[in-house]
Amino acid sequence: MLRHTRVAVSFVMLALMLVEGTRDANARSKLPDPINAGVAEKLYKLDCGHSLANDESVWTPGENVGRNIEFSSTCWLIKHGSAWLLWDTGVPEAALNDPRGWSTLPKLIVYHLDKSLIDQLAEIGLKPDDIGRVAISHTHGDHIGNVVLFPNSTIVMQQAEYSWIHSPNGPNDNVNQLMALARKLLGTPKNLQLIDGDTDVFGDGSVTLVSTPGHTPGHQSLLVHLKNSGFIMLSGDVVHLEGNFEKNIVPSLNTDKAKSIASMEEVRQLIATYKATFFINHDKSQTDKLKLLPAFYD
Ligand SMILES: [Zn+2]
Repeated sequence: MLRHTRVAVSFVMLALMLVEGTRDANARSKLPDPINAGVAEKLYKLDCGHSLANDESVWTPGENVGRNIEFSSTCWLIKHGSAWLLWDTGVPEAALNDPRGWSTLPKLIVYHLDKSLIDQLAEIGLKPDDIGRVAISHTHGDHIGNVVLFPNSTIVMQQAEYSWIHSPNGPNDNVNQLMALARKLLGTPKNLQLIDGDTDVFGDGSVTLVSTPGHTPGHQSLLVHLKNSGFIMLSGDVVHLEGNFEKNIVPSLNTDKAKSIASMEEVRQLIATYKATFFINHDKSQTDKLKLLPAFYD
């Protein structure tokens, strides 16, 4: 009798483990096969601005209080067959070469733009209408600043992000201010593709939007597969600095601390699974070392 019970219990546990395993696989089933994923041909880094903040501890709570910090802003351009995808759009072109700069939160951070996004595209012979898709990591102004320059492209973002910026204000003034700015900068795109979770953009595993909420409710990162460089994970703002990634530090402006930590953990697992290189958008010391358009990764 005891033996039967034990067998029955083991069987139930095995069944539960299988269900659990299936659920995990389904939840992430849009992620590419590490061995057989397709490839994009080229990945270009564009200079999309840089910024100076007067208190690093907003991004590293408890540390570096009152210290200045400089961040980079990057956009990335991907060539897949004859299709082009732009990842993030950077600081608004209106700020170009303006010594006063531009800000999302004036008391905290000022952005500068030295290079026009449109001019950088032109350097490799592209016009805005050549860019079929503009995917955005999230709706902060330093990422959607130039969405309006691509009126005929399809803007790809998470449904959760779109719903969030159109939801009523919460208790945090800074976050409310960022939401209002997001609505203004995003406007009403003619072609808007709202996605729900991980999304395989070209259907071959070469370019995958990965849901990484926490910085904002519908934040996403981008996993790109290249022939020679292998997998490259573009952070968005899932993390701002290498040190934060190592220590699971969450900026105070993030909308959800627990989800931010879970998303960093998720990215860590993906980096291991895909042996991916990780490019952190705002980490200036890392970004400055990377190739800049017209150079590219392939
Ligand atoms: Zn940002």
